[in-house]
Amino acid sequence: MLNYDLLKELTQAWGVAGREKNVRAIILRELEGLCDKVQVDNIGNIIALKKGRQSGESKKVMLSAHMDEVGLQVKKVENDGRILVCKVGWVWTSALYNDQVIFQNGTIGVVGCGDIENAKNNCDKLFVDIGCTTKEDAEKHVQVGDYCGFIGPWYELQNGRISAKSFDDRAGCFMLLEALKRNEGACPNDIYYVFSVQEEVGCRGSKTAAAQVKPDIGVSVDVTPDHFYPCDLTGCNAVGEGIAITLGDPSAMLDEYLVDEMLACCEEKHIPYQRGVMDRGGTDASSMNLSNEGVRVAGIAVVDRYAHSKCSVIAKQDIEAGIDLLHHYTHRVFRF
Ligand SMILES: [Zn+2]
Repeated sequence: MLNYDLLKELTQAWGVAGREKNVRAIILRELEGLCDKVQVDNIGNIIALKKGRQSGESKKVMLSAHMDEVGLQVKKVENDGRILVCKVGWVWTSALYNDQVIFQNGTIGVVGCGDIENAKNNCDKLFVDIGCTTKEDAEKHVQVGDYCGFIGPWYELQNGRISAKSFDDRAGCFMLLEALKRNEGACPNDIYYVFSVQEEVGCRGSKTAAAQVKPDIGVSVDVTPDHFYPCDLTGCNAVGEGIAITLGDPSAMLDEYLVDEMLACCEEKHIPYQRGVMDRGGTDASSMNLSNEGVRVAGIAVVDRYAHSKCSVIAKQDIEAGIDLLHHYTHRVFRF
C-alpha cells in the first residue's frame, strides 16, 4: 500500500507560481540520498539526476512535474480596505468566489465579488476581504504585489478518491519522487527528475531546465481535466479509469514513437491507462519539445476533476498506475 502522507504534505504547501520555495524544501528533503546529483538552478527548478548503466543505447530522459500552483496577486488596496487582485495562471472566477484564500505571510482573506453576473472569468470584479475597513489598516498585512492562493484541506472520499487543492501538479511531483524511490540504478537510461517552477504562467521553468539537461526524451507528468461533470471543457477523460497517456496537448505535438512505446508499456505491464486528449491548456512538454535542437516529447497525466480549485479530486489508483508507468517506461530501451 502506497503511503499518501507525502502527497498530502505537498498539496498543503503554499506555492503560487514564482514563489515555490515551500514546495521545493519538501522535495529537496525527500531527494536526500536518492540521486547522483541534485541541483537547484537560477530560477528555482530542482534537477535531480539518477544515472543509469551506461550502454550505447542509453538516452537522457527528462521527467518534468511542476511545483507551482495558480493563485492571485494584489494589484490595488482600496480606501475601504478591499484588496483588488489579478490572476496568476488560469483561475475560474467561480472557483474563487465566496471562498477563503491565504497570503504567503499567512494572512487569510475571503474572496467577494461586486458583480458576479458579469464577473465571467476575469478577476476585475473580485476583491479579497481580510477584515480591514481602511487602506491603512489593510496595508499593515497585505501589500501591492503580494500573492495569495487557495486553502484546500485534504479529504478522503469514497472509492479511493481524494480531494485537496494543488493536485495540479503536486500529484506529478509525488509520482516522480515515488518512481525515483523505485529506481535502483539498473535503468538503461539516465533519468533527470525535474521539479519545475512557473508552469502555470507559461511553462517557463522547464524551458531553462531543458536547456541545461539537453534531454533526448522529455516527458511531462501533470494532471489533465476530467470531463464527466458539468464544466466548460469537453472530452472523455475520467477520474479512476487509469493514468492518462497524453495523445493531444494544444501546446505540443507528442512524438509518435514515444507515445506508441508508452501504450505498449501499459499493455505489456498491465497498467490501467486511458487515452488522454486535452483541448485547452498546455504542459511542460511544450518547452522541452522546442528546447535545444528539438526534443521528442510525451506526457502522462492524472485525471483531475474540479482542477484549479481548492477541492480538486483525483483517484489513488490513477496515481499508482502513473508511478508504475514511469517506472517501467524509463526502464525501456529507446531506439531512434
Ligand atoms: Zn499542471
